[in-house]
Amino acid sequence: MAVTIRDIHLKTVRQPLRSPFKAVLQQVEEREIILVSVTGDVGDVGYGECVAFETPWYTEETITSCRFVLEQVLVPLLMNKTIGSPQEVWNLFAAVKGNRMAKAAIEMAVWDLFAKQQGEPLWKFIGGSPQPISAGIVVAADPLKIEEQVALAAQSGYRRVKIKIHPDMEVALLKSVIAAFPELQFFADANGSFQKDSFNRLQAFDEVDFALIEQPFGEREWALHAQAKKELKTKICLDESIACLEDVQQMIDQQAGDIVVLKMSRLGGWTEALKVVRLCQTHSIGMWVGGMIEFGVSKAHNLALASLPGIVYPGDFSASQHFWEKDIIDPEITVENGNILLSNRPGIGYRVV
Ligand SMILES: [Mg+2]
Repeated sequence: MAVTIRDIHLKTVRQPLRSPFKAVLQQVEEREIILVSVTGDVGDVGYGECVAFETPWYTEETITSCRFVLEQVLVPLLMNKTIGSPQEVWNLFAAVKGNRMAKAAIEMAVWDLFAKQQGEPLWKFIGGSPQPISAGIVVAADPLKIEEQVALAAQSGYRRVKIKIHPDMEVALLKSVIAAFPELQFFADANGSFQKDSFNRLQAFDEVDFALIEQPFGEREWALHAQAKKELKTKICLDESIACLEDVQQMIDQQAGDIVVLKMSRLGGWTEALKVVRLCQTHSIGMWVGGMIEFGVSKAHNLALASLPGIVYPGDFSASQHFWEKDIIDPEITVENGNILLSNRPGIGYRVV
């Protein structure tokens, strides 16, 4: 099946969060994304979402740099091209260095388009299975409110809670919260806030009984992560360190982690994400799908990704209502009994409103 790309449209969506999201690195109060729609010659429309932040605090890209790269570079490269498979987009963009979040937004739309033209749900198109996807929530860094937020998450049916941690946090408080909710699985995410001289602080967090500690050290700190993997009993999971396939190979070679967070957008889209999944499957590396405080289009792609074998941990999958008064998809994403059900409709399975 070949598809000729007839139209590519970029639309800015801006909305405040229902409540501010406070990470170690940044507080997010409002979100702006670029909704990308790609129309093929048969008339189907595929959707992607560019989830770069306003400033380069999380990745090097910003929503402004992505808009420039999409408009001036990527859209002209794809417009009116006839492609036989969505993997070909990666090759069309090969001469463009970096800018993976911009590439992902348009590439993901093409995957949605191909699945729709095939009449298949995206999860099926990529070889996943129709399992319920376990939902997980992130609790941000206000220590006084952690217990309250965890209780609310448990009430709302989430099974996994991720707590943002940093070296100065009180370990006893975390221990008591975790002990109070034995039915929940707890992850810790340090967002690289530990350093060589706070290694012993990290060891204190090893006693908390988290299922994993995510990204204790900086993105390029392979040796420190290898040391942590060796000396801690808690599993080490890498997020910010994993920006491409080669980073996963590096983690495996250096024994710098047990688990990988899949952020399709940071990886540059489906083609690279599927390669990462295959590599992790081969080496029995655990995986889960991470979130970017995104809207429903990005989340729908990520839900499809989570249907693949080997993605064993619950991802950052919250209901639409968790961040937004109103999501950009219909129906909105809901969590029932701790799960999100995959849509059986073609492509991402949601109508974009
Ligand atoms: Mg993270």
